[in-house]
Amino acid sequence: MQERGINSTFKKIIYESSEMVFLADDTFPYSIFYANDSFENQIGQDLQEKTLAGLGLDINAYIFKEELILTHDGKDYSFRLELPHENGSNYFLFYKGKEVRTHGLPSKKESQQFFKSGLDVIAIGQHDYLTYLNGTVLPVLGYEVEELLNTNLCNFIHPDDIERVRNIWKNNADQDTNAFFQTRLKTKQGEFKNLECSVQFTPDRFFIIARDITEKVKSTEIQERVELLALETPAEVKTGTWNFNRQSSILTFSPVSTQLLECPAILDLSKNPIENSNKEFVTKWLESFELVAAEKEEFDFSIQLKEEKEQWLKVKGIASGDHKFSGVIWDEYVIQEKTNKISLLEGLFQNSPEPGIIVYSDGKIFQVNEEAKNLFGLEQEKVNHLSELGVLFDNSDLWKDWIQFDDSDAHIQRFSSLLISAQGKQLTLEVSSKSISIASEKYISLVFRNITEKVTLEKTIEESSDFLMNLTEQVPGGLYQMVLDVEGKMKFSFLSKGISTVLGLKNEELDQFTDISAAITRVHPMDLPQVIMSSVASARKQEPWQCQFRVKTDDENNFRWVLGAARPQLLPNGDMVWYGYLTDISNQKEFEAKLDEARKTAEKASQIKSDFLSMISHELRTPLNAISGSVYSLLQEQPNDSQKTALNTINFAVDNLIIMINDLLDFQKIEAGKLTIEKAPFNFQGLVNQIIKGLSFHARDSKNNLNLHISEGLDIWLKGDKTRLSQILNNLITNALKFTNEGNVDVTVKLIDRKGEKAKVYFEVKDSGIGIAKENQEKIFNDFDQVKPTFSTKYGGTGLGLSITKKLLSLMGGAIQLESEEGKGSRFYFNLEFDLAEEQPISITPEKSKVFEPATLKLLMAEDNDVNALVLGKIIKKWGYTFDRVMNGQEAVEAVKSNHYDCILMDIQMPVMDGFDATVAIKSFSKSPVIALTAAAKLEIMERIDECGFDGFVAKPIDAAELLKKIKEVVSGENYSA
Ligand code: ADP
Repeated sequence: MQERGINSTFKKIIYESSEMVFLADDTFPYSIFYANDSFENQIGQDLQEKTLAGLGLDINAYIFKEELILTHDGKDYSFRLELPHENGSNYFLFYKGKEVRTHGLPSKKESQQFFKSGLDVIAIGQHDYLTYLNGTVLPVLGYEVEELLNTNLCNFIHPDDIERVRNIWKNNADQDTNAFFQTRLKTKQGEFKNLECSVQFTPDRFFIIARDITEKVKSTEIQERVELLALETPAEVKTGTWNFNRQSSILTFSPVSTQLLECPAILDLSKNPIENSNKEFVTKWLESFELVAAEKEEFDFSIQLKEEKEQWLKVKGIASGDHKFSGVIWDEYVIQEKTNKISLLEGLFQNSPEPGIIVYSDGKIFQVNEEAKNLFGLEQEKVNHLSELGVLFDNSDLWKDWIQFDDSDAHIQRFSSLLISAQGKQLTLEVSSKSISIASEKYISLVFRNITEKVTLEKTIEESSDFLMNLTEQVPGGLYQMVLDVEGKMKFSFLSKGISTVLGLKNEELDQFTDISAAITRVHPMDLPQVIMSSVASARKQEPWQCQFRVKTDDENNFRWVLGAARPQLLPNGDMVWYGYLTDISNQKEFEAKLDEARKTAEKASQIKSDFLSMISHELRTPLNAISGSVYSLLQEQPNDSQKTALNTINFAVDNLIIMINDLLDFQKIEAGKLTIEKAPFNFQGLVNQIIKGLSFHARDSKNNLNLHISEGLDIWLKGDKTRLSQILNNLITNALKFTNEGNVDVTVKLIDRKGEKAKVYFEVKDSGIGIAKENQEKIFNDFDQVKPTFSTKYGGTGLGLSITKKLLSLMGGAIQLESEEGKGSRFYFNLEFDLAEEQPISITPEKSKVFEPATLKLLMAEDNDVNALVLGKIIKKWGYTFDRVMNGQEAVEAVKSNHYDCILMDIQMPVMDGFDATVAIKSFSKSPVIALTAAAKLEIMERIDECGFDGFVAKPIDAAELLKKIKEVVSGENYSA
């Protein structure tokens, strides 16, 4: 820079100054060829053109100046200036450059300009009148400046503000102070405008700058009203705000509103097309707006957010002028929902099936539901307090208990009380009460339940349980319940008091007596296996258990007989339960033992009697046989008349004795219960004919006509006991013949009914004899009863015949009946039912066979008794037959093996081998007919006769004629079949 002629003073300035320094060429374009850091930092670095022109300097304007102001980037900088010198320096030097801080104060002109054109009203005044006003008063207050100069300020101030403003003036005027206030000033149009004033007071003047804040105040007011609206919305909903400019169609929403509406914060309603999602809402908004809001200062309407949604929003708004509206919006549906919920809950409570009352904590009634009204009969009346219900209850202060709650009590309390219903009925109520706190208010909910039936039922159950308990205690013996659980454990679950008596326990021991093993140890060791086995069987088969056993009753090994019985039941849980009883049967056992002994004695006695009778009859028959045989022989030897009479008398007596013995034996057998009724097939008509025929001799002897009337259809085979039937008819006909003299005996047999497998037959034996007196008609059926004992001497008999007949008939299912008149005759009749039998192969009965009259026959007589053999031998010889005699069955068999006999007469009771066995043996190899001869009881014999294959039977003492007839029958049968 030497060449530029910079002297040392300048050099120092250039290089050492901290202020801005720069150098520029003295020729156009006046380029800045040097600048220090300070200049570069503040100005130089921003320069696009590093020249004086680039700095905006017209250097010629400063040609005579030493200082200049450089304006750059809104800031003023002052520089000192050294011009080029003719003596060598060719540069401009700018130095001591610094920012001019005082820059910006207006010039007077500028100030005046500023005053005039300010947006605020600027006024200057003295005391209370105005000396200066800028033109802003016109747009703000509507006055020309001139109209207001020298006017009193107070004239324009709102009457409500005037006092306050005056005070400000009073306090501040003539001082160097300032004041700020707001006031309303009247415009030329008579409205008031809000002005915010700042006043500078000086000792003699005041300077006012007043700004029109009418809009701001108004919008604040609107804001406040909107806030008020928001406050009025229900507390539980979210409330958003909105602003709407109807002119610009801009709708703006607060964040809450955008959330509720699910739309952007700003909607331009004029925009077309409107986004689809908001179209519906926008249309409705505009509709509602035109309808309700446009003309009103304050308005509200509801708007449905979406057609398909039941969601309504409530809008409230105010008009803020200039087509502007503001307001709030909230979701009414939340409220609706809440209201619905409340009315639902109330409905539920009102219509609850349980009567309920909700009261305050002091008993004052809050709600009573329908059922409660019905229960207490409160349809019409209104009750306010629980105490009013008191009259209905047995204790009128009961309600106090219901509402008695500790603060901590959250549980349910239950009471039972008696209510007299409106219909005068007594009901037992269960009252449940619970306290609830809602919104710091305490309520008590009471629910009433009619438990009358339950209480009655419980009472009945209790009574019947008591009754059953009493019963279990009163019954003789003891009841128990025993359980066998799934694990196999057995124990008593119930024992009635009676058990202690049966098992000899003390009452206090009974409670401990649950263990089954304790019971088992008391059982007699001999009976224990039976008890255990029967119990196990009962459990396994689930069948009732019954067992008689002995139990120990004390420590001295005394036992008592006990009957245990129980019925098992399988429970669903797998347990087996026995319900049973134990009863003391010691007395019964004792009695049974005695009875058994007595029975044995009786049986023994009966056996002795039976044996005795059997023996006696046998012993009696043998001599009777002898007498009868002898008499027969004598009668064959042409006795004279007196001998004949005597012999006939003997015969009659012997016959009677035989009948008596037979009757006695039959009777004895029936009495001993040894008689069984057979069911074997027989030809019915054949049997009846045979009986009648058998008695025809007797009829002839007694000079009576014996007539048989047999109906059609009886030539059939029936199942029955033909022997017993013969015996019955024999008895009746014999009696009829016996008690009739030269009269008629009519036997009628009729088939009454034949259905399926059954045939019912009527039997009647009617005579024209002496008849039976009324008073005797019952008696004669009794054992050993006759009309008069003297009769037996005249007519013979034992008085057993009818008794046996009656008993036999009842065994066969019939009942004998009698009609009789003294002197006229008797009629015995009865019905019997038989099973039908299949027709049997016809065995030619002797009646049907040709009568065989043998000239001579060879007989075998098997008879151990010599007297009998002698008598029989004589008789056989009389007939002109020959015979061999053997002494026992064995010999008889041998004899038949070695000889041929036309007929064998077989005694039954013989030594070595009896007649039965002998006949069986003979029949195995021979066809010779065998006739049984026996003195033993007829019934006994008959039972075995068929089994052994006898061809006929003749009772001892032998009736010779009957025997001869029998022999002829069997022999001719033999021949016929042979
Ligand atoms: P008995 O062996 O004496 O005949 P019954 O029991 O057969 O015994 O008869 C009892 C009594 O009934 C007879 O003694 C007789 O008095 C009377 N009796 C029975 N049948 C007749 C009858 N047909 N006519 C008259 N009396 C009869």
